[in-house]
Order: sequence, then structure tokens, then C-alpha cells
Amino acid sequence: MSHSIVPAPASLLTDAVAGYISGARPGAAPLATEPDDLAFMALALEEARLAEREGEVPVGAVLVRRGEVIARARNRRETHGDPTAHAEMLLIREAVGSGTMGGGWRFTEVTLYVTLEPCVMCMGASVLARIPRLVYGCSDPKGGAARTLYQLGNDPRLNHRVEVVGGVRGEEAGDLLRDFFRRLRARPRGGAGP
Ligand SMILES: [Zn+2]
Repeated sequence: MSHSIVPAPASLLTDAVAGYISGARPGAAPLATEPDDLAFMALALEEARLAEREGEVPVGAVLVRRGEVIARARNRRETHGDPTAHAEMLLIREAVGSGTMGGGWRFTEVTLYVTLEPCVMCMGASVLARIPRLVYGCSDPKGGAARTLYQLGNDPRLNHRVEVVGGVRGEEAGDLLRDFFRRLRARPRGGAGP
């Protein structure tokens, strides 16, 4: 099965540089500056590389509150045999489990960084968690629900808006995924590990 991952288009990169806000919190100052976004996305990319070594589709995520990393996670779908074990879902569960959210379910004042544009489930979870800001790397033409297929962070029918910044280190995130799937396709059927 082919799974194409494309780097975010140039327009998204421009958006990222401009600190694009997708209609959320109009007039409000961004919660983090662009150099912070690049640095935190580097940590998410580290998680993605760890996932790759574990034979998982390389997607990583970090959760940041007031400049501090409060959770890190990576895709564990194969390891857990769980279709919901996406990096963003595990990130939310880790933050809850560690007590860092103080027992509350509202993820105020956080930015979620993830290397691949979130799917419908993860965007839904972000809306439910009241996550104010999301930064992603490359877009996902087959499942992206932040911008590409759906814009769940900016749907007036829902009761929460998520600021979305796309294309931050998108080339690196996309290269990781492309290389992973290329190796997967090249692997002899029934052969050992990637
Ligand atoms: Zn997801």
C-alpha cells in the first residue's frame, strides 16, 4: 500500500515564518515565538527518529507549556497494537498521567508540536483538550485534519479554535516519512526488520 507524504507547500512555510494564525484568537499574540517553534520541533523530530528505530511510522510530538516541555511522545501503533496510539494521543495521556496538568482536563497555555499534520482523531482530541495552539511539520494529503482535508481547529460549528501553524521543519519531517516508506516498500516480502 502506498502512502504519500508531501512536504508542506511553500505557502505553509511562509505561514510559519509569519507566525500564521488560522483565524483563532484574533488579535491575540502568539503563545510562542518562531525560534521556539523551530527548537521544540527539533525535539519532536528526535521522538520521530526514535519511533523509526522501533519500526514505527516516524511521527513524534512534544507538549510545551510556558516554554517548558511537559510531555514527549512518539507513534506506538505497532508496539501497542493500538490504532489510537498516535503520538498526539499518547502525548495527551502522558501529560494527564504525570499529573502535570494538575488534574484538570483543559490543556490551556500549551502548544502541541507534532512532526506530521494531525489526523481527524488527534485534531478531535486537541479540540476536546482545548489545546490553544498546534504546530506541525509536514502536511498529510491522505489524512490531515488541521488544514489539508479538514480544518477541525477552525470550524465554527465546534466550540473551540486551535491556532494552527504548519510547515515548521516540514522538509525534515517529510524526509523521515518518505525514507521510512521507501525502505518498507524495498523490503523483501516476509523479510526481517526495516
Ligand atoms: Zn492522529
